[in-house]
Amino acid sequence: MQALTEEQDLIISTVRRFVDKEVMPVASEMEHRNEYPHDLVRQMKEMGLFGLNVPEKYGGAELNTTTFAMIFEEISRGWLGLAGVLGTHSVMCDVIAGFGTEEQKRRFLPHLATGEKRGGICLTESNAGTDLQNLSTTATREGDLYRINGSKLWITNARHGNTFLLLAKTDPQAKPAHRGMSAFIFEKGAPGMTVSRDIDKLGYKSVETCELHFDNFPVPAENLIGGVEGHGFKQVMTGLEAERLNVAARGLGIARAAFEEAIRYAQRRVTFGKPIAEYQTIQNKLADMATHIEASRLLIYSAAEKRDRGERCDLEAGMAKLFASETAAEVAFEAMRILGGNGYSKDFPVERYYRDAPLVVIGGGTNELQRLIIARNLLKKYKDNG
Ligand SMILES: Cc1cc2nc3c(=O)[nH]c(=O)nc-3n(C[C@H](O)[C@H](O)[C@H](O)COP(=O)(O)OP(=O)(O)OC[C@H]3O[C@@H](n4cnc5c(N)ncnc54)[C@H](O)[C@@H]3O)c2cc1C
Repeated sequence: MQALTEEQDLIISTVRRFVDKEVMPVASEMEHRNEYPHDLVRQMKEMGLFGLNVPEKYGGAELNTTTFAMIFEEISRGWLGLAGVLGTHSVMCDVIAGFGTEEQKRRFLPHLATGEKRGGICLTESNAGTDLQNLSTTATREGDLYRINGSKLWITNARHGNTFLLLAKTDPQAKPAHRGMSAFIFEKGAPGMTVSRDIDKLGYKSVETCELHFDNFPVPAENLIGGVEGHGFKQVMTGLEAERLNVAARGLGIARAAFEEAIRYAQRRVTFGKPIAEYQTIQNKLADMATHIEASRLLIYSAAEKRDRGERCDLEAGMAKLFASETAAEVAFEAMRILGGNGYSKDFPVERYYRDAPLVVIGGGTNELQRLIIARNLLKKYKDNG
């Protein structure tokens, strides 16, 4: 990996300080109370973290993907829920910056960069998660607006956010289905959209994940991304390529937090007259944990650098997401074993890492789906023409 520039170094050390001083001391208690981190979100706005991937021209930081991943690692090391406030918001920014009309970019991106407008992505439905083309929410043109009807499930930031990316069918009869799918930006305010339920989750708490209902909800026609119907699926899928790296970096952050807690504890906890860190059994665990963490980091940086060169990185991003998220789950469990009973106690943060880790295995495209993406790309790359 290339050495960090002065700018990268500055922003990462600023975020690291914020996480150490402001986030880590309060994360577990707030998470146990499922309390929304209003003050931390305010500080993240002040630090410009809502505009990390927004082009400078529209008021953002326009950071490269590697720096972006490093920041997500740091925040997730402190608290995965806090990274969730930024995660899908960043996907929305990516899609608008990549596919929005000039007018849409000027209208939305500067406000998204400051966090004054913030939100996430409304894709999943009860019958459309991995199989996203099976979604049934419709957007029907009526004069200079579209009427949205349907329901969305698992929408992070839906209660506290105000601006969202929505995927819906403008032509429900289209075959293949993706040709009839369009993406919109919508803002809360008009009647017809309700946040009906906050889902009670195992982890990834404090940040809200909700169910939404649309009943003839009006969205201005000028909010159709790119201004042409039928391109929504491709636009969203391109945004999700970047999301895989952001989710991978979140996994790396969880794994690092769990490892750092475990290696500290192993040197302090004495059994049979010596610190458990002196037993080979524990040393083997620490060695495996650290090796998997380092491998995750290198996979993420390698995919990020490819993306920054303007190349497609589906294969590499898929590998990074798969490996880093599985590492998060494994390392969190190993850390729990190293802490013994204390690993199972809410007095220590490891139980939180253990509950948070499965989200990165499932979110951003399940790891079963990542394996399919990886295999599809490998078969293309190694096509046997014989
Ligand atoms: C906490 C949380 C937050 C979320 N936030 C958002 C959000 O902000 N916005 C949003 O739109 N969505 C969000 N999601 C939804 C998430 O993207 C979906 O849950 C995920 O894509 C999986 O879809 P599903 O739950 O419908 O599972 P399913 O698609 O029903 O999958 C069930 C199982 O079958 C496997 N499977 C499915 N198809 C195949 C196949 N072809 N081959 C092999 N295995 C397969 C899956 O890997 C999985 O193991 C969130 C989810 C969670 C848990």
